[in-house]
Amino acid sequence: MTDVIINLQDAYVSYNGSAALDGVSLQVHAGESIVLRGPNGAGKTTLLTAIHGLTPLLAGSIRAFGLAPAGRTLLEVRRRIGYVAQAQGFDPRMPITVRESVMTGVYGRLGWRRRVSLPVQAAVNATLDRLGLQALDSRPLGHLSGGEQRRVMIARALVQEPEVLLLDEPTASLDDHTRADICSVIDELNRERGLTVLWVTHDLDSLPASCMRVIRMQRGRITTDAAPDGEAASGRRP
Ligand code: ATP
Repeated sequence: MTDVIINLQDAYVSYNGSAALDGVSLQVHAGESIVLRGPNGAGKTTLLTAIHGLTPLLAGSIRAFGLAPAGRTLLEVRRRIGYVAQAQGFDPRMPITVRESVMTGVYGRLGWRRRVSLPVQAAVNATLDRLGLQALDSRPLGHLSGGEQRRVMIARALVQEPEVLLLDEPTASLDDHTRADICSVIDELNRERGLTVLWVTHDLDSLPASCMRVIRMQRGRITTDAAPDGEAASGRRP
């Protein structure tokens, strides 16, 4: 078994006095592909945003690569973790193209000068291509369909070259073909580059092929944490 790269101990988050994470302990190993499931309001998004340092803990601890996702180490953690939030509509008047939005994913590692070298440009082109976005690259982001915008957000997270990818319902309301395409891109990155993935998904019939572990949450707690049952996924462990 590989190293633990994300470690939550008794993590507690509360909104207006009501617990969204209620004592969650979880260890994620490098190279794992984990699916998070559970009913609406179970705390899945809160778990991802807490790992990404967007939601502070009231009690307990989180370490990513041994670092707290807060204070002086927050940016370091954010550079190494890509986060794709739940679907959001973009204002059609927003003056940013598909390519420009994807480029914002590399700014973190380019530093303040943001000098885009040829290899970085090539990596951005390859990612646009891989997600079927090349033909759309000069279109305004807000003029794209919901599924296309979702692909842009995934491309933006991937060009960041993260070690961990947090995906909040990345394929919700996408057609079967697009869903399969997106899953296969992520599965490949998990298999070939050891990308660690936490996916929140409500898709009941299909798990991503790379899925090794399914965690179910309810009312802010983890209720089960087990290998998938053979048929829908490979059940590999790193
Ligand atoms: P869904 O499947 O509907 O996306 P979820 O499992 O991701 O749900 P969370 O979004 O983590 O659940 O929400 C957990 C609980 O925390 C819910 O009761 C929700 O209403 C509450 N909550 C989440 N974000 C906030 C917020 N910003 N302010 C107040 N309450 C919040």
